[in-house]
Amino acid sequence: MRRSDLRNIVIIAHVDHGKTSLVDCLLKQSGQFRDSQLQGTQILDSNDIERERGITILSKNIALPYKGIKINIMDTPGHADFGGEVERVVRMADGALVLMDAAEGPMPQTRFVLSKALEAGVKPIIVINKIDRPDARSLEVVDEALELLVDLGGEEYLDHFNHIFTSAKEGYATLDPAVRGDSMQPLLDMVLEQIPGPEVEPDEPLQLLVTNLDWSEYVGRIGIGRVQAGVLKSGQSVELSKKNNQIAPAQIGSISIFDNLGRTEVDEASAGEIAAIVGIEDVEIGDTICAKGHMRALPRLEVDDPTLEMV
Ligand code: GDP
Repeated sequence: MRRSDLRNIVIIAHVDHGKTSLVDCLLKQSGQFRDSQLQGTQILDSNDIERERGITILSKNIALPYKGIKINIMDTPGHADFGGEVERVVRMADGALVLMDAAEGPMPQTRFVLSKALEAGVKPIIVINKIDRPDARSLEVVDEALELLVDLGGEEYLDHFNHIFTSAKEGYATLDPAVRGDSMQPLLDMVLEQIPGPEVEPDEPLQLLVTNLDWSEYVGRIGIGRVQAGVLKSGQSVELSKKNNQIAPAQIGSISIFDNLGRTEVDEASAGEIAAIVGIEDVEIGDTICAKGHMRALPRLEVDDPTLEMV
């Protein structure tokens, strides 16, 4: 079943093309918080307490409520890939905002991350940002983006090419770069229309593949993944499928999901949600967490970087 009230997307951008500004702008316009919280800060960079505690991954994710639908937006690493992080993040998403500077166009990092997103079957929306720049070549950059998509993903993208223009600086999205917009709504509408909700099995017992790890000195290791089936509950007794087909009993501690400024602790996370799980000390990337007595292990993920296993 596809959920219609949720979207999981990633943002892909070369450094300085405006990822932080865009997310900041979306949050501001969603009006879910007081402006005073924001003054002089940029959301993706503002969560200093979380960073001090070592919680790095969750502080890069936000959720936006829009027209009754929750849009989870996950960051992708802007630096060179490390331990397959890009592959693992895109696995939790159904869509990608592929952000490009309207003057600079696609850059090598955009190409690399986009190729991983397309391999994972994620649907791209090309976002041409900074169209207010005097040296913007917005329409040319659309052609370059299309060329890149066809090069990476094949000719099918000629027919399924979604793109939009933004000025994160001035706070609008528009379908025509010659026409100034007045809000980011056209971008959010495009996300709702073009990106499918997550395909899940809400009525089956719990199943979740751990795709990322985080750590905090207060709570220790944190497992992150998208709930594939059932409902994840705090305090729940579960089983983990470990390497070499071993099965280990465990208990879920607390659970968090994304909210507009980072994450929020909840009692339950439903199928399709991306959840952070505290309390399973030996959880590893690639483990499947299932309801007790209902083990259905998903294929393990490859982890290239051994340090990730030692967090
Ligand atoms: P990030 O590295 O992708 O997160 O990029 P930032 O959001 O930090 O933006 C990099 C620089 O580009 C900053 O100086 C922003 O003010 C500027 N910038 C971001 N969006 C726009 C835009 O739409 N128009 C213009 N002119 N500048 C922008």
